[in-house]
Amino acid sequence: MSSIVHRPGKAFDAHVPVVIIGAGAAGLVAALAAHEAGAEVLVIERDPLPRGSTALSAGLVPAAGTRWQRAAGIVDDPGLFAADIMAKAHHEPDAVLVDRVSREAAPAIEWLAASHGLAFSLITDFGYPGHSARRMHGLPSRSGEELINALRGAAERADISILCDAHVTTLFAGEDSSIIGLAFTRPDGTRDEVGCGQLVLACNGYGGNRALVAQHIPSLADALYFGHPGNQGDALLWGEALGAGTRHLSGHQGHGSVAHPAGILVTWATITEGGVQVNSRGERFCDESRGYSEQAAEVLRQPDGVAWTVFDARIAAIARQFEDFRQAEAIGAVLAADDWPTLAARMSVPIDTLGATMTAVSGFKSTGTEDGFGRSFAGLPDLAPPFRAVKVTGALFHTQGGLVVDAEARVLDRARHPLPNLFAAGGAACGVSGAQASGYLSGNGLLMAVTLGRIAGRAAGAAAT
Ligand SMILES: Cc1cc2nc3c(=O)[nH]c(=O)nc-3n(C[C@H](O)[C@H](O)[C@H](O)COP(=O)(O)OP(=O)(O)OC[C@H]3O[C@@H](n4cnc5c(N)ncnc54)[C@H](O)[C@@H]3O)c2cc1C
Repeated sequence: MSSIVHRPGKAFDAHVPVVIIGAGAAGLVAALAAHEAGAEVLVIERDPLPRGSTALSAGLVPAAGTRWQRAAGIVDDPGLFAADIMAKAHHEPDAVLVDRVSREAAPAIEWLAASHGLAFSLITDFGYPGHSARRMHGLPSRSGEELINALRGAAERADISILCDAHVTTLFAGEDSSIIGLAFTRPDGTRDEVGCGQLVLACNGYGGNRALVAQHIPSLADALYFGHPGNQGDALLWGEALGAGTRHLSGHQGHGSVAHPAGILVTWATITEGGVQVNSRGERFCDESRGYSEQAAEVLRQPDGVAWTVFDARIAAIARQFEDFRQAEAIGAVLAADDWPTLAARMSVPIDTLGATMTAVSGFKSTGTEDGFGRSFAGLPDLAPPFRAVKVTGALFHTQGGLVVDAEARVLDRARHPLPNLFAAGGAACGVSGAQASGYLSGNGLLMAVTLGRIAGRAAGAAAT
């Protein structure tokens, strides 16, 4: 149970200038930046190894104006990126924060590549909904596992201390709500304390806390949570107790394409490249191209809360760059057939209905007309045999609301004044997705972890030194 204890003047045996809670992407990037700013840093992580939701993700970070985009001849800039974020999020986010992270994203990943050896490359062969340019960057396996391991390796090379198996339970506040230290418990039940000069909250949101999800996102109260279970909303609870402002707590990243029952993410390239989703009756049920986040609730509304993502071998070849997709294929979650009747039989959906649905999709593609849901298939090739289908469900990936921060990642109180020495990044901070699932633009999660993590680490490091 997380708590705040007011203890002005409390002394600690050990004191570290910058303490960071959480060793996901936000925490490790913040640690690298604070270390570079000259501060001594301690990262405290409740798990035996740094993983977090970051390890479960596809590890794709959006950035505009990068050297990889220039090499691929892609014209993009932070202004365009910021406009895409604001449009997808219905203009709800803080425009100053959106502007800052849009401008800092390219320098952040170029710094991680140049200074820490992270081998980013640009995804050029498909786009994500709402992005007006190809700007998703990932490591070779396109997996968050590779991203978190690379960040941990970089932190270890920089001799940054990462204390694992240490679950922070209590923050000690001094005068004027400054944080003077914290307490953490070990798996054997022992308890330790450490004093801090600056504190960065990088312990993500509250997706793993059923009660908070039911309170803030009732539509997904019973949905599968596909993120890291250790993310229990501690940053939110501490912040609220300290008088921090919170915003957009109903905002979240859902996903409408998690292989079921295997529980493996199936990339949305299956849809953006021209695939569709049908329910167990073989019928389409909405415009899938709006985005995967809002699609979670659409899929959960279908019979048994499941749907089928239907695509073809060409799209499967693109999807295969993702480790997750290769795994889904390896365990047989992706069905294949040379014609619609055989595929329908394998899916156990009515053959005639699936045939009619796919004939209609073919027609929309050849005539260029919109379907009844408002989806345009313009420029997308017709699906060609052999066809593919994977049974999927909708899931909650990540909460998007959280502590209100300024453009320096400083946590603000309810009157919008910065708390003395408290920073938040990644899922601990209110993101740039607004209050609705449909506000999530692909990559907003790691944008706030990597980019805001770097901003928070730099600012905390500078304040400490
Ligand atoms: C399946 C999946 C796919 C995704 N794909 C993408 C993608 O491709 N691109 C993208 O931008 N986003 C993606 N996301 C979202 C992305 O993973 C998150 O936005 C991002 O990882 C958040 O990083 P973080 O550092 O804030 O949190 P995390 O990576 O979750 O790290 C938080 C850490 O804090 C630790 N912690 C929590 N509480 C405490 C405590 N009290 N004491 C000590 N430690 C604590 C946790 O154990 C955890 O290790 C995806 C999410 C999921 C679930």
